[in-house]
Amino acid sequence: MKVVLTRSQDRILQLLKQMQRSVSAQDIYVELRNRSQGVGLATVYRALDALKLAGVVQVRTLASGESLYGSVHEDRHHLTCLHCQESIPILECPVHQLEAEFQANHQFRIYYHTLEFFGVCKNCALQHPADAEGQPAPHCPDHYPDNLPDHAVSLPENH
Ligand SMILES: [Zn+2]
Ligand SMILES: [Zn+2]
Repeated sequence: MKVVLTRSQDRILQLLKQMQRSVSAQDIYVELRNRSQGVGLATVYRALDALKLAGVVQVRTLASGESLYGSVHEDRHHLTCLHCQESIPILECPVHQLEAEFQANHQFRIYYHTLEFFGVCKNCALQHPADAEGQPAPHCPDHYPDNLPDHAVSLPENH
């Protein structure tokens, strides 16, 4: 699909491609202003909505409710600490292959997916030992990854 972008949409998309991390709408607003390309915050939100519908921008929602935006070309997931809010990127995507299968089997064009892991990081676990002590994971490991059909997990992977 060829998408015609407005100037502010294009600036925001270029910015997201340059950033090495997902950023909030507020961050985008500040960054554009620093580059003397400032647009209003409402324009930033409208542009992000349009870019999301065009399938070129993805959104992650943190436990705090904050939305972070990134270019869809990154398939990156994070381990997010609920104590210090630090997000540690993980290099592999456990559902990448499933995405291709869903697209084929359901004839559904997937723009992006999100998969978030929340818990306590090593530093915070040292500072709050009571929270991290021997708590079993709330989900049965047999159903990992969560919310996916069981049979899908055993499918062969093509890399
Ligand atoms: Zn932490
Ligand atoms: Zn992924």
